[in-house]
Amino acid sequence: MRESLRIFKALSDETRLKIVESLLNGEKCVCEIIPFTKRTQPTISIQLSKLENLGIVESRREGKSVYYRISDPKIRKILSKIDFSRWWGIGRKEIEWYPTIDEDKCIGCGMCITTCGRGVFEFDKDKNKSKVKNPYNCMVGCDNCSIYCPAGAISFPQKDRREFIQSLLKKYNLIAKARENITKEGSDEK
Ligand code: SF4
Ligand code: SF4
Repeated sequence: MRESLRIFKALSDETRLKIVESLLNGEKCVCEIIPFTKRTQPTISIQLSKLENLGIVESRREGKSVYYRISDPKIRKILSKIDFSRWWGIGRKEIEWYPTIDEDKCIGCGMCITTCGRGVFEFDKDKNKSKVKNPYNCMVGCDNCSIYCPAGAISFPQKDRREFIQSLLKKYNLIAKARENITKEGSDEK
């Protein structure tokens, strides 16, 4: 119970949750975590330090960079139970962003399952290939699995990712919301 409380405390903050998500597919330096989480460096440093104190992540220094990784194996299991049905408060199904697998190209290597921390894929043992199980668990704007797929089997409905995300920012006025969040984070950290 105490163990679960520690983990839930760590993941109850949106920034910490995003940091942990960014680490699901492997170790990252702070310079990679910042663009993924879309938070400022001071905010990320504070939250990484909290996660480290809670025993959720651990770090190592290499030259001038500090690399972080998940140290608690229970995190992946807990994250699989998180509700991904909304994005910035918008119903996730309203946003056309999800992977599709071309079955003819898939070689069944399982990289997509291993690299995605959101339970989007599952392995079809009969066909010996991966398939998409929960398309709307996919994080809007992420296309990591298509980069890791060695067979070029994964695609997304939107050809131009940048243009699509920019159109969402305008449509849902997300820049103003991001500024509100930053202001709120600033006051929360005082
Ligand atoms: S990474 Fe690509 S080739 Fe490998 S299982 Fe997934 S879709 Fe198939
Ligand atoms: S693009 Fe979606 S499905 Fe692929 S790794 Fe990212 S979150 Fe998972």
